[in-house]
Amino acid sequence: MTDLQTDIRYLKGIGEKKALAFHKLGVFSLYDLLRYFPRRYEDRSVVKSLALTQDGETVCVRGMVADTPRLARIRRGLDLVKFRIVDESGMAEITYFNQAYRKDQISKGESYIFYGKIEGLGVRRSMVNPVCEKESDVGYLTGRILPVYRIASGLTQRNLLDSVRQGLALCGETLPELLPEDIRRQEELCSARFAFENIHFPADAKALEIARRRMIFEELFVLACALGKLREKRIRASGIQFAPTDYDVFWRALPFTPTGAQLRAVREAEADLTSGTVMNRLVQGDVGSGKTLVAAALIWAAWKNGRCSAFMAPTEILAQQHLATLTALLSPFGVRIGKLTGSSGAKEKREIKTALREGKLDLVIGTHALFSEDVEYANLGLVITDEQHRFGVEQRSALIEKGARPHVLVMSATPIPRTLALILYGDLDVSIIDELPPGRQKVDTFAVDESYRSRLNGFIRKLAGEGRQIFVVCPMVEENEELSQELKSAEEHAKELQQTFPELRVACIHGRLKPKEKDAIMASFVSGETDILVSTTVIEVGVDVPNAALMVVENAERFGLSQLHQLRGRVGRGTHKSWCILVSDASGDEVRARLDILCKTNDGFRIAEEDLRLRGPGDFFGSRQSGLPEMHVADLGADAQILQRAQQAALRLLEKDPELSSLANVPLREHVERLFKTNTDRFN
Ligand code: ADP
Ligand code: MG
Repeated sequence: MTDLQTDIRYLKGIGEKKALAFHKLGVFSLYDLLRYFPRRYEDRSVVKSLALTQDGETVCVRGMVADTPRLARIRRGLDLVKFRIVDESGMAEITYFNQAYRKDQISKGESYIFYGKIEGLGVRRSMVNPVCEKESDVGYLTGRILPVYRIASGLTQRNLLDSVRQGLALCGETLPELLPEDIRRQEELCSARFAFENIHFPADAKALEIARRRMIFEELFVLACALGKLREKRIRASGIQFAPTDYDVFWRALPFTPTGAQLRAVREAEADLTSGTVMNRLVQGDVGSGKTLVAAALIWAAWKNGRCSAFMAPTEILAQQHLATLTALLSPFGVRIGKLTGSSGAKEKREIKTALREGKLDLVIGTHALFSEDVEYANLGLVITDEQHRFGVEQRSALIEKGARPHVLVMSATPIPRTLALILYGDLDVSIIDELPPGRQKVDTFAVDESYRSRLNGFIRKLAGEGRQIFVVCPMVEENEELSQELKSAEEHAKELQQTFPELRVACIHGRLKPKEKDAIMASFVSGETDILVSTTVIEVGVDVPNAALMVVENAERFGLSQLHQLRGRVGRGTHKSWCILVSDASGDEVRARLDILCKTNDGFRIAEEDLRLRGPGDFFGSRQSGLPEMHVADLGADAQILQRAQQAALRLLEKDPELSSLANVPLREHVERLFKTNTDRFN
């Protein structure tokens, strides 16, 4: 008896070797196979008469073989089979390279369907190596919409087609229905069986659309259920209960007044901290919105409660900067602060670790080193990660495991469209800082091409003359990248700039430098000893240099909109009027349109939405880093609307059946749990 769990080896044509190739695709059981959806489709459903075909068109034609196929051996290793076909409207010459068997397979006087690219017109019309199917067999390789699968070496498209077809025949009846009946009806979604059959072998374009919509909905629905359950679980998980803190003392010690949004974020977090359950909060705010201050207030509260905080930054430079900022804000109260990064010396590391173990530090700031195995915390109460999209969820949880369920605050400057944030961070609570500190000036932004180079240089000279500093960002150039000649590498560009401006001090910072070297270069820029800092995107996040008034981005077309917005956020942080110049020689309306968005708006959320729309979420979140399971059919950007509906449906269902324990929901629960299993890190 076969069922969905049956091993794929059971199928005809799949032996040991092919099975291993399937394993590489993550396909072990028949169910895996049926869930292995096509990557794309080829529409071979339309058969055109020869006379109507266009030069260069890929299409099906029906033709009778007009002469006996001839085999010609051109030289060793190269032979070809040639013949002509005709239909009522015209003719074409067919050539097969190195497929000698075609000579015997194809007979004069018989009709076939050929699918391939047409070249030439009239008597010169020809096709090379077309797919060929006997007219009487039509419907297998031609005359339909054909799925195209991603395959592994050792497999052919044919193997996939045959296997999936067998799988559907064997198990079509037993495919479980994950979607509750009433939701399916409400959302007008087809049955599981129809969806599986038509996503692999669409009857027509309409059926494919219906099947895809259901699969997308299902995938997002399962995700939403999983996130919803996680959130439930967490809400019930007990955590360290902080005593209420009077933040006024802290606010009064500041050189400025906190913004309303900062106060609100702190208030929301305070409610979590004192609730007795674990805090898991995302603070989202545009660059420069003052997230660090929110973190500082909460570290202060943890300290008041006798608890240590760990603050993780994605880079050494940022750890350094946070150390400076937080020391200024917190050490006057007597908060004991240490730093632990990869580049800390052996002795320093030992001392910090001892202090942490013995509970002699109230705040430790660092990078990944914070959660290496040999770091122990005596009384960890709060974990803060900055720019979380740079942090693997795993790393975060490694640290969380070190404490007795510490509270977690995640800060992100990647503004995610609101609706999406609530879903993507479905297991986090979200505070949004939607207000910039007072007195911020709009950064004027211009997109220019090379012809502006001399004017740009003049502008740099003028600003530097006024004592301002300048950031220049070049794209990261991968070794062996084809385009590299056209791209400005940071180092070369820095050299050129130094030649152009012999009177200015130009420094360059890039990924290949040692952390210590980077720190030194950064420090000299922060202190104003350097006028122009050329860098790759290592400065993208967080660095605060109020005297910097110009951000120049070279090859701006290479950056995502949100990334450019982040870069722009590096300037305009002080009292000086600031500019951002996006240099790009890339032609094309799309590039222009993209850069134009930045020139027109400073609203990070709007930019994020555009970015998401233009690039899709894969790039946007760095899907692996978002900690979400990989989506097979759904596109979190393009399918945002379905996502929202799926989430609403999931919440409705979870309200009725929180454990998904009713009989009808068993298949769904299994899927939800499977999603958890591959993402166990989300449990923490
Ligand atoms: P981000 O949200 O990008 O991390 P930061 O926390 O680095 O922003 O804050 C950016 C700058 O704004 C810092 O120089 C900080 O001192 C300043 N800042 C933060 N909050 C306020 C405030 N309420 N009023 C004035 N300046 C503020
Ligand atoms: Mg920051």
